[in-house]
Amino acid sequence: AVKPQGESALLTRRRATLGPHSPTFYDEPLHLISGKGVWLRGSDGVDYLDAYNNVPHVGHCNPVVVKAIAEQAGRLNIHTRYLSVPVVEYAEALLATFAPHLDKVLFTNSGSEANELALRMARQHTGGTGVLVTDYSYHGNTTSLAELTTGLRVKEPFGSHVRALRIPDLDSDSRPEEVVLAEALAEAEAALASLQAAGHGVSALLFDPLFSTEGLLRPPAGYIASLTDLVRSAGGLIIADEVQSGLGRAGSHFWGHELYGIAPELVTMGKPLGNGHPLGGVVTTSDLLDEFGAANLYFNTFAGNPVSAVAGLAVLRETIGRGLQRGAQEVGGYARDLLEKLAARQPLVKSVRGTGLFFGLEFADETGRPATAQTKQIVEAMRCKGVLISKIGPHENVLKIRPPLVFEREHVDLLVDRLAASLEEL
Ligand code: PMP
Repeated sequence: AVKPQGESALLTRRRATLGPHSPTFYDEPLHLISGKGVWLRGSDGVDYLDAYNNVPHVGHCNPVVVKAIAEQAGRLNIHTRYLSVPVVEYAEALLATFAPHLDKVLFTNSGSEANELALRMARQHTGGTGVLVTDYSYHGNTTSLAELTTGLRVKEPFGSHVRALRIPDLDSDSRPEEVVLAEALAEAEAALASLQAAGHGVSALLFDPLFSTEGLLRPPAGYIASLTDLVRSAGGLIIADEVQSGLGRAGSHFWGHELYGIAPELVTMGKPLGNGHPLGGVVTTSDLLDEFGAANLYFNTFAGNPVSAVAGLAVLRETIGRGLQRGAQEVGGYARDLLEKLAARQPLVKSVRGTGLFFGLEFADETGRPATAQTKQIVEAMRCKGVLISKIGPHENVLKIRPPLVFEREHVDLLVDRLAASLEEL
């Protein structure tokens, strides 16, 4: 077992410069010095198995990506108002992964910027400002996104133009599926009606197809498709926030929204796109882009610059070339099987959640109450056993296991073995 040593000098310097509120994981923050594939080396000399980070999508310090970035940085990097090949090549390759109606992309430097831009486009198209989000969600750190944040502590008041929907979850609701579905759709109709009544209109539904912050919820079949129909009938557009769910992670589908057979007008992306290089984007239709472009000179200094574009292209080629989406489905399925077996032996586990290479265990005590303290203990215990994971959900009682896509069966074995041991020790 690894004993955290506490990098107190570095932590002190960090707090002195970045301030005491800059968040870190773990009771004693982990100091990392290098990464390779699914492994992260700590300053304590320990190699930690990374079962948490989705940003290093094709593996930490992936050599193909590193080489592409280094070569392009040595050749040309420039803001985005000149012609250069990489951004066009990347746009073509990225758009080829989407349904035909989604044939335009605007690049950004982050997921927040992407959601901000998508909301702007939706407002301008619909003339409304009302937004539907899901309860306990997070979409970014700008002012207008803070106004619709329900999943993190923010000071901005919740927008009067925003309604948050409780997403029905069959893993925690034991009533018949059709009852759960009918209630949830009635709630959505009421929320839409209240936006109309207040004069906001409906610009968009903004949601994360895997409900990553919400705790990996499992809505009834047909819920998302019916919800998007309701939003469209009220005049709104659909924004799928694929910052966590996209780029093959969902396993069965390349983009998370495809799990539900829906066709959003806007898809936003971030985290994994550049394997750590800051890169995000909004994919949309030609009509929406034309409408937005006619009314606005939208300019973004860094987004899609030659270095960012080659990073994105290298990540995409690695993802597709190495069959990582199929891998996410296979390895994710293998992990789920092992976790189901573990769950059957462990009364603390209330449900096994997730899709593809994004899964979690939900913990509850004998009375069914969320086992928040135990979940934190497990996350800390796993770190001491050399495996990095985290926790999500309104009660922080769902483990968040979301490794780089190059995670393999042997890594799952190690993860589940350490998880079983951590649960035994509890
Ligand atoms: N959307 C989702 C679903 C996210 O998880 C995040 C980041 N956690 C964001 C948007 C914001 O992305 P960024 O931090 O790159 O601005």
